Amino acid sequence: MSLDTPIDQLPRTSVRTIQRLKALEIHTYYDLLHYYPTRHDDRSLSSPIGTVQAGEKVTITGTIQSIKNNFTKRGFKIQKATLADDTGTIELVWYNQMYLMRTLQEGMQLAVYGEVEELGKVKQMKPQEYEIVTGNEGTCIHTGRLVPIYDLTYGISAKTVREKVLWILTSHIDEIEKSEYLPHDLINYAGLIPEPKALQSIHFPKTQDDLTQAHNRLAFDELFIRLLASAKVKEQWNTQVVVKKFDVGSFIKDIKAFKSSLPFSLTDAQERVVAEITNDLQKTIPMNRFLQGDVGSGKTVVAAIAAYIAKLNDTQTLIMAPTEILAQQHFQTLTQLFDKTDVTLALHTRSHRSLTNSTSKNAEFDIIVGTQALITKAVTMNNVGLVVIDEQHRFGVKQRAMLKEKGCNPHLLTMTATPIPRTVALTLYSELDLSTIDEMPKGRKTIKTYVINQAKRKDCYTWIQKQIQKQGDQAYVVCPLIDESDVETMKTVKAAAKEFEDLTKIFKTESVALLHGKVKAKDKETIMGKFKNNTHDILVATSVVEVGVDVPNATIMLIEGAERFGLAQLHQLRGRVGRGDKQSYCLLFTSDGKNSHSRLSFFARNHNGMKLAEFDLKIRGAGNMYGTEQHGYTDLKLADITNAADVHKAQASVDLFLRKYTLENYPYLQHILEQYQTHQISKD
Ligand code: ADP
Ligand code: MG
Repeated sequence: MSLDTPIDQLPRTSVRTIQRLKALEIHTYYDLLHYYPTRHDDRSLSSPIGTVQAGEKVTITGTIQSIKNNFTKRGFKIQKATLADDTGTIELVWYNQMYLMRTLQEGMQLAVYGEVEELGKVKQMKPQEYEIVTGNEGTCIHTGRLVPIYDLTYGISAKTVREKVLWILTSHIDEIEKSEYLPHDLINYAGLIPEPKALQSIHFPKTQDDLTQAHNRLAFDELFIRLLASAKVKEQWNTQVVVKKFDVGSFIKDIKAFKSSLPFSLTDAQERVVAEITNDLQKTIPMNRFLQGDVGSGKTVVAAIAAYIAKLNDTQTLIMAPTEILAQQHFQTLTQLFDKTDVTLALHTRSHRSLTNSTSKNAEFDIIVGTQALITKAVTMNNVGLVVIDEQHRFGVKQRAMLKEKGCNPHLLTMTATPIPRTVALTLYSELDLSTIDEMPKGRKTIKTYVINQAKRKDCYTWIQKQIQKQGDQAYVVCPLIDESDVETMKTVKAAAKEFEDLTKIFKTESVALLHGKVKAKDKETIMGKFKNNTHDILVATSVVEVGVDVPNATIMLIEGAERFGLAQLHQLRGRVGRGDKQSYCLLFTSDGKNSHSRLSFFARNHNGMKLAEFDLKIRGAGNMYGTEQHGYTDLKLADITNAADVHKAQASVDLFLRKYTLENYPYLQHILEQYQTHQISKD
C-alpha cells in the first residue's frame, strides 16, 4: 500500500465516481489528499434538542424514534423522522429522498445539521446534511465540526469526497506519518507544523487555528518545492560551459561605433541592461537572463547589441518571436539597425524559409529571426552563440537539449513586456537573472486614455473618421475575448468577424481590415503589410493576435469589452499606439457599466506598466495576472506568490536546506522534486 496507489483501487467506489475523480486530475491517493477543500463550513455549534431555537443553524444528535414516508396530493414524497435525546424531540423533514427509508432506521444514532424552524409548538428541521453516528463522539465528518467543502464537478458530492479522504487518512496512516520530507530543524526554523498533521487538518481541522496552520504548511510546501527546483536548475546551469567564450574587450570600438550608428542614443536604463548582458556574455557559464521592460521601452535594440557581440565573436544568434508577423517585423527592424554593418540576417518562419538543410549555407547568416519553428524544426545549425526569446515562450529543457545536440550551448536572453511585480518574479523566475528597463525613451507623448460611455459611440466613430480623413491617422479596434481566457476561441473569431462587418457599414469611405488567429499566415502578412503602409485605415483584430506590432502611424486604439482584460494586458494593447510623433489615443468601451469603472479609470490615469500590474494584482489576484498561466503559476493551489514574507521565508529555507543538508539523504523530498520536474518538463 502506498500513497501512489491508483485511485481506481479505492474500495467500495463506483466506476463513475472514479471517472469523475480522474476528471478532477485526481489519479492517486496522494492526489486526493492534496485535493484541498476550497473552504470549511462551520457546523461546530451543537446543542441538546431541548435547547435549540428557531432560526439557529446547528448540529443536533439523537436517536431516531420513528421514520415514515408520506405521499402528498400532488405526488410528492415526504420523509419524516423524529429524533430524540434526553432533553427533547425534533421532527426531521426531507422531500423526495426515498433512499432514506432504506438508509435510516429506528434506533439509529443520527447527527443532522441545518436550520431549526418552529411550527406551532413543534420544532422541525429540514437537514442540510445528515450523518449516521457509528463511532465515538468527535468522529463525525459531515456535521458537528468544521466541515470541508470541495470544488467539485457534476455528479460527485462533497460527502463522497470527505468519506474517501477520511478512508485514506485512516487506512494509510503509516504512509502519511512518513510524509514529512523536511528535516526537523528546518520545520522549526520556518515555524511549521509537521506534514502528516497538515494533511489531516487541511481536510478535517479541529479548530480554525489548526486549519490556518495546515494551510501555512502546505502553502509553504508549494513554494519550497518550486524554489528548490529552481535552485537545482540554477545549480545545474552553473555547471555548463559555453562552446566559445566571448571576447568583448577587443571589440569595444566596434560596439561603440554600432551604438553611435543608431538613430537615437540609449536611455540610462538601456545602457545599464546592456552592461549587465555584456558582463554575462564574457563568462564561461552561459547567460540565463530575463529582461523585462514596458512596451516601447526599447528592448529590441538591447537584443541587437547582444547579437552584435555574438557576431563579432563569430557565432550566430537566433531571435524567436511568438508569431510570424512579429518575426517579420523584428527582421525588418534589425535589418535597418544593422544597415551600416556587415551583419547578415535571415528570416525563417513557416512561410519564409531562408534556412536550408545545408549547415554551411545556414552558417552564412549572423542573425536568424523566426518563430518557434526555428528550434522545433530540425534546422541544421551548429554555431549558435546566443538565443533571444521575445515574449510568451517557454524556452525549456527540451528546446535547450535540441540545441545541445547540435553542439551549441548558447547564452539565453528572454524578454517580456509583461510587467511582473518583483515578489512574483522572485517565485516564478528565481533561476533567472533579472534585468529591468524602467525608463522610456525621451519625448514620448502620453497616450490620452478615455473610458467612453456607450451613448457616445456614434460620436466616437465620427471623431475617428475625422482623424483618419484630416490627418491620415490609423486605428486599431480590438474585440473582446468572448470566452474568458487568454485563448482565442472560435467564438471570439466570430465576434471579431461580426464587428468587422458592422464597422465596414459605418466606415464606408475608409478601408477596414480584419485580423485574427484563424487567418492564414500568408494573408496575415499581407493584411499587416497593408496596414503598415497605410492602405488600410482601420484594423479590426482579436487581442491575442499581435503583441508588439509596430505601426508608428497608428494613433488610435479602440478596445471593446475592456473590462474583460487585465490592466497589464490593456497596457500592452495601448502600447501599440503612441509609437510615432503624433498624439495617440486609447478608447475603452465596456459592457458591464459601472462595475469595472474604478479599475479602468485607474488605467486611464496611469501609464506605468509596473504600477498597473501591481494594482491588478491587488484587485484581481495573481491568478488573473496576464501571462501567469504560461509561466506555470497555476500549479500553486494555496501559496500566495504576492506575499513577499512567504516567498522570502521559503527561499531562505531552500538556502538553508542546500547549505546544511544533502538532498540524497532525503529520498521522499527527492521523490517529490522529481515528480515536480517531470511535470514541468511535460509542459514545455
Ligand atoms: P519594446 O521594448 O516594446 O520591444 P521596441 O524595441 O520595439 O520596444 O522600441 C520601441 C520604439 O522605440 C522603436 O521604434 C525603437 O526604435 C525606439 N527606441 C528604442 N530605444 C530608443 C531610445 N533610446 N530613444 C528613442 N527611441 C528609442
Ligand atoms: Mg518588442
